[in-house]
Amino acid sequence: MPKIPEDVVKRVIDRAKIEDVVGDFVDLRKAGVNLTGICPFHDDKHDGNFIVRPSSIPEARHGNTYRCFVCDKKGGPVQFLMEHERLSFPDAIRWLGKKYHEPVDDIPLNYTPPPPRPKPAPLPVLEIPRAYVVRTMTIAQEQSILFTYWLQLLPWDDEQRARLQETLWMYCVGGWRDGRVVFWQIDHNGIPRAAKLMKYLPDGHRDKEAHPGWIYNQDGCRQQLEPDKHEIIKPLFGSHLMNRYPKAVVNIVESEKTAIIMANYYGNHDDQIWMACGGLKHLQLDSLQPLIDEGRTIWLWPDKDGRDDWQEVCEKLGYDKCRVYTHFFDTCWTEADGMKADVADIAIRMMRTGDKPRHDEPKHEPVKVGDIITHIMDDGKPFIDPDEMTDPRVRMWRETLRQRYNFNKTRNERRNQTI
Ligand SMILES: [Zn+2]
Repeated sequence: MPKIPEDVVKRVIDRAKIEDVVGDFVDLRKAGVNLTGICPFHDDKHDGNFIVRPSSIPEARHGNTYRCFVCDKKGGPVQFLMEHERLSFPDAIRWLGKKYHEPVDDIPLNYTPPPPRPKPAPLPVLEIPRAYVVRTMTIAQEQSILFTYWLQLLPWDDEQRARLQETLWMYCVGGWRDGRVVFWQIDHNGIPRAAKLMKYLPDGHRDKEAHPGWIYNQDGCRQQLEPDKHEIIKPLFGSHLMNRYPKAVVNIVESEKTAIIMANYYGNHDDQIWMACGGLKHLQLDSLQPLIDEGRTIWLWPDKDGRDDWQEVCEKLGYDKCRVYTHFFDTCWTEADGMKADVADIAIRMMRTGDKPRHDEPKHEPVKVGDIITHIMDDGKPFIDPDEMTDPRVRMWRETLRQRYNFNKTRNERRNQTI
């Protein structure tokens, strides 16, 4: 059989885009700068492990490739076709030639495409009425909730103690009639999506006997909220703070308790806000998407034993402004804290002993989008930094802001004329 000439092979490979090729077989959706879907090579139940780095990413940074973090299948468009459709190399090139209208040779492609899979109709996303939030917050005021009671007893300094109630309100911490605490998961648009009910012991630890419950599964709520007829999404605990603190760097920890303690410990919400994903294994690419869309700087603060897991999440995300932050641990942890300690345990110990964090505050990269807003607002001149021109998101933002600024300017001028 005649060989396909090298220049033809090269031309076809240069045209092939991994997102198109994989997209013909796998439903892909955005995950940071990447795409993700259910891995077609192993018995995958959730997307998030199979990552496609689109062709817009440079080759040096693994652009135009796919990789599964579970079964470790990886490669480019040709490898995908050879592996997934069991095509020979020449047939994979013919397949791509056909797709991208690049003539290859006269040998017919021996291939039957698989039948399209039927897609189930999507369910509406559950939206919990705000009255539920208010109701649980009222209960937390009316009766003793062990978690909030324990929080009051921590050795806060005067300033920290003075702002504790405000911190609890900020996070909409609520209570349930049986004394459980309610951690609301309200999305970045302010819509309550879920709430976790947790039982705490008087020593501030979770009651491991009692499994956390979800509000939509509680008696009375279930009938009204109908979770079975909805898709349930679980935004990061604290996502609703994004709007209120537009310039803040986002610190993500495992537990809601840690997020609340650290937020109250530092109290500098304009600079940094704290969010929780609910556990080591619960940091999902989906819940990080709103932060990435806004171009936020993200610091992940895993517990001591969770660094590797979250480093992997970071890699999958492929988002430059997300890092695992371990400096606090590295400089503040002592033997006495034990191997199981999380950042809040260390902060509490330091409050008790009067130690101050020996670490520099996280060295936050400048919040670029924020800088641009200030520049435009301050002197009306567009802020031009050649480095930023490379980031299309920043470019788009700046264009929007410039238009908005010009609009406001003309409107103000017009208004001044009328006066
Ligand atoms: Zn796989």
